[in-house]
Amino acid sequence: MKPVEEIFPLLSAPRNIVITMHQKPDPDALGSSLGLYQFLIQFGHTVTVISPTNWPTWLNWMPGSSKVIDFELTNDKAQAALNAADWLFCLDFNIFTRTKNLSPRLYDFKGIKILLDHHQQPELAAFDYGVSNTAKSSTCEMVYDFIITSGHHGLINTEVAECLYAGVMADTGSFRFSSTTASVHRMVADLKDRGLDHTRVHENIYDNFLENRLRFIGHVLMSRMEIFYEYNAALIAITKKDLLRFQIKTGDTEGLVNYPLSIQGIKLAALVIDRDEERKWSFRSKGGFDTNTFARKYFNGGGHFNASGGRSSESLERTVEQFKIAMKENVAQLQ
Ligand code: 5GP
Ligand code: MN
Repeated sequence: MKPVEEIFPLLSAPRNIVITMHQKPDPDALGSSLGLYQFLIQFGHTVTVISPTNWPTWLNWMPGSSKVIDFELTNDKAQAALNAADWLFCLDFNIFTRTKNLSPRLYDFKGIKILLDHHQQPELAAFDYGVSNTAKSSTCEMVYDFIITSGHHGLINTEVAECLYAGVMADTGSFRFSSTTASVHRMVADLKDRGLDHTRVHENIYDNFLENRLRFIGHVLMSRMEIFYEYNAALIAITKKDLLRFQIKTGDTEGLVNYPLSIQGIKLAALVIDRDEERKWSFRSKGGFDTNTFARKYFNGGGHFNASGGRSSESLERTVEQFKIAMKENVAQLQ
């Protein structure tokens, strides 16, 4: 993979560009993609944003979200855009399997593939240009860096600023995780200077749910959370019945895994959801427990040091048992 700076001189000639992200995009994935979209269209490029799957409806306030193509829902449009594209930007993932059914199509893509991502263990050989930096708070911060280092600071308008702020806010846990460097704060200060209304973005993300989601959280914390004090760990296991009863949609379970970390002493929080196609795991930790290694070793996943995900094709009961065994094997690391 060559340094991303090498494409900067090529930005000024109009081209066909596709931007894509990981499946079930979160604020960082969709925010970085739409932030880059809002930047690139100012050069006269034809830009199409493709999401591998649907996304939470509470992200539909993002400027440009109505133009995003759902690869599963409108496959023909997505295929046509990919066929026509010279460049493919891959944002907030670093291995094609994170794009679900879109993955084989990305492997086959004949144009130039550009990576901007902050997850661990990237598949660098699959990309032509890019930046992979695990020290970055968010892919949104990397899009900001991309814009600044390419010399186009002046193209950061309020649309770009709102999209990028959403991702950096979400991925830093509202500026509390250790990834929140001084340059993150400088970036936010700059976005503010350029007209960002951060309160609006915050409310759009955190005060934009329906009643059922809050009732669901109440139910889950009361009846589905197990605490293992001797391992400083907690587990939340959500059944299909829970999802149906509270009419849970994409994105409604976002952030739930963080709740157990607010209990004194808890260093590892795990959440598993019994989805139709698989059992989906989320892991969050505080301090020195490496969830990336844990998710890779036991649950076919990965991510960052303190936040990772994984999957299992076993039943909910069986995968929960496997988690408990894995937790016990990691007793030393959890102390
Ligand atoms: P979440 O728990 O929010 O789904 O994911 C936490 C972090 O781990 C995110 O940065 C996400 O991109 C990454 N992640 C989630 N699931 C997987 C997975 O199955 N494989 C890999 N490599 N990363 C994942
Ligand atoms: Mn991210």
